[in-house]
Amino acid sequence: MKLYNTLTRKKEEFVPLEPGEVKMYSCGPTVYNFFHIGNARPFIMFDVLRRYFEYRGYKVTFVQNFTDIDDKVIKKANEENTTYDVIAERYIKEYFTDARGLGIHEASVHPRATENIAEIIDIVKTLEEKGHAYEVNGDVYFRARSFKEYGKLSHQPIDELESGARIAVGEQKEDPIDFALWKAAKPGEPSWDSPWGKGRPGWHIECSAMARKYLGETIDIHSGGIDLCFPHHENEIAQSECCSGKPFARYWLHNAFLNIDNQKMSKSLGNFFTVRDAAKVYGYDAIRFFMLSAHYRSPLNYSQESLSQAKSALARLNAALGSVRFLKENGNDGGETEAEKRSEEGFETYRRKFCESMDDDMNTADAVAAVFEAVRDINTVCAEKTVTKAYAEKADAFLNELCGVLGIGDAPEKKDGADAEIEKLIADRQAARKAKDFKEADRIRDLLKEQDIILEDTPQGVKWHKA
Ligand code: AMP
Ligand code: ZN
Repeated sequence: MKLYNTLTRKKEEFVPLEPGEVKMYSCGPTVYNFFHIGNARPFIMFDVLRRYFEYRGYKVTFVQNFTDIDDKVIKKANEENTTYDVIAERYIKEYFTDARGLGIHEASVHPRATENIAEIIDIVKTLEEKGHAYEVNGDVYFRARSFKEYGKLSHQPIDELESGARIAVGEQKEDPIDFALWKAAKPGEPSWDSPWGKGRPGWHIECSAMARKYLGETIDIHSGGIDLCFPHHENEIAQSECCSGKPFARYWLHNAFLNIDNQKMSKSLGNFFTVRDAAKVYGYDAIRFFMLSAHYRSPLNYSQESLSQAKSALARLNAALGSVRFLKENGNDGGETEAEKRSEEGFETYRRKFCESMDDDMNTADAVAAVFEAVRDINTVCAEKTVTKAYAEKADAFLNELCGVLGIGDAPEKKDGADAEIEKLIADRQAARKAKDFKEADRIRDLLKEQDIILEDTPQGVKWHKA
């Protein structure tokens, strides 16, 4: 598989450090609010990358942190007259609700900054001992010029960075490009004991500490939005490499912005939609599908039309999944027809196209297109008067295989409980109809409709799919 590495500015063949294993770290959310569609982009895209590695047989250890202490979390706590941990706990819970809805698998570990203070202090101490960090009145700063390669990720010469850097009010840095590793406690703010007195960690250091703790000194992939490339990731590299003397992350992956009216969607600009609100209108599945419709390094514009389009494309996919699921049970018992055999041969071609697209720097747009070519073929076959169970079985397995990697459609993982429940309701409705209890039958139909389940009565039985 080839991946575009921001560090080398090239598409490179991905070769993990340990054969068959991938160690990935992705910067997670700062938990002071619901996350918005822009934030969802890296969460969804790197979830797909992880799933694809797993599909290709790798053992993946995936770490995504929660930044549970920073100025924004503290500000929110003050506004609500509560403590930072109450705010963090609430929005971590809300993160999982939305992430589950979007089909984002839980990371192997979701570490929190405040649960790793000892590890953070340990790195800062090492950096200080090695002359890469210095303390001023309880603050500790990283001496950027002490790291010769500073700027290598964002490809900026240090003097250029110097001219853009400022010393903020209250900071006591030797050099404007230095950055905080540890911040002395301010009155009324949460703080932890440290060799430099009470204080709290800077933002960049938490990722260095948690990546090292859960993945080791050198990791395979580090990812996040392009806005994190500088200074966040640049600083992570400086801290980690100065501490260990080893390369930190071997491949750096950055997603482009999710825009709205061609401007970055962001909390500070106020031009954002939370995933929670958008899901109420379009459904979580459509948001995920919309994200996959573009390559992760291309800017993507959010609009009502694009979400509506995603919703209708998804409905086509779900209709095909509904047909094959139905025909698996209700199709013909005989041997496959010539048309069915031809279609099955096509599956090989589409699977190859799918993998080739994913191997090319995770081109999900083309991978989705390969799935839809299969959907078109399957719909043609399923429109015939007779379809065999054997074909439906294979088509169902094939669609679920690829959809399971992308996490779209009625992916197998979503099916377990949910499908059984739907099937039971459909059976109950059939029983009610048989007993001529049409009121009950209609009630069940409405209940299913509320869950976006569309029923179709056919001579062979009831067929259903998600809207
Ligand atoms: P934050 O909670 O602001 O630290 O952001 C969490 C993740 O969302 C980071 O990887 C950011 O780079 C990413 N992100 C924030 N806004 C956008 C956007 N408009 N488009 C794409 N990624 C974004
Ligand atoms: Zn980070």
